[in-house]
Amino acid sequence: MDTSFDLHGMTAIVTGANSGIGQGIAVALGRAGAGVAAVGRSSMDETAALVAETGAPFLAIKAELATLADIPRIVEEATAWGGRADILVNNAGTIRRADSIDFTEEDWDAVMDINLKSVFFLSQAFARHVLAEGHSGKIINIASMMSFQGGIRIPSYTASKSGLAGLTRLLACEWAGRGINVNAIAPGYFATANTKALREDEKRSTEIMGRIPAGRWGKPEDLGGAAVFLASRASDYVHGVTLPVDGGWLAR
Ligand code: NAP
Repeated sequence: MDTSFDLHGMTAIVTGANSGIGQGIAVALGRAGAGVAAVGRSSMDETAALVAETGAPFLAIKAELATLADIPRIVEEATAWGGRADILVNNAGTIRRADSIDFTEEDWDAVMDINLKSVFFLSQAFARHVLAEGHSGKIINIASMMSFQGGIRIPSYTASKSGLAGLTRLLACEWAGRGINVNAIAPGYFATANTKALREDEKRSTEIMGRIPAGRWGKPEDLGGAAVFLASRASDYVHGVTLPVDGGWLAR
């Protein structure tokens, strides 16, 4: 039997796992056998129940990612619980919408701090653990179509997600030879809280749907296969890619 996608015995840290894409990825990793350390500032009860159905171990870690204060504790708590941390999914993210001409410093910093700065320093904390323990590690960053395209009215979001694709490449170059794979998944348009405003804007919603070859918005479970692949031995020679899971959006 091919076990290259099997995650039993591994511990995965997933940020923003209480809802949407992070929750979908936490469940998929649990189904593949990984213990899930779910990191966030809101209740993890719903995710805990869904991961429990997979039979995988589950831990909730309360943490705020708008600053760096909680970051060392996240890796410490996950490793104290799971014995080790093998997988890090940097999923937590935020978005602010306004015309660039009116965009504020607060909306710039709020997005960059969570989507890019915390991602870098949590990845650093995770990599320090992996290198100190001498085992391998997998980092999966959740990028965006805005890692490839410009978008409109979301300047800090586009800057952060384009920056995240670059950071993914840089960390892959530094750590590929040290047993850590760094890759990203770029979801297309998914029906979550992040896209509520878009889906409620009839004009934008119709425009978006008309460009998705698959003919529907993505669901968090659509990302499970890519996440398990990038978390598993099956992707050991994959480094620095940003993999679109977009219903064909970029192919259009
Ligand atoms: P979501 O349901 O709003 O998820 C965002 C997650 O990030 C939530 O768990 C949220 O926690 C967490 N988060 C935000 N600010 C935080 C903070 N300061 N500290 C700790 N956690 C924080 O939307 P989503 O669509 O699943 O988004 C997940 C990721 O996918 C984001 O990085 C987003 O940019 C990316 N993405 C989404 C789409 C899409 O179409 N939906 C497309 C491309 C990329 P709270 O619930 O506590 O706020």
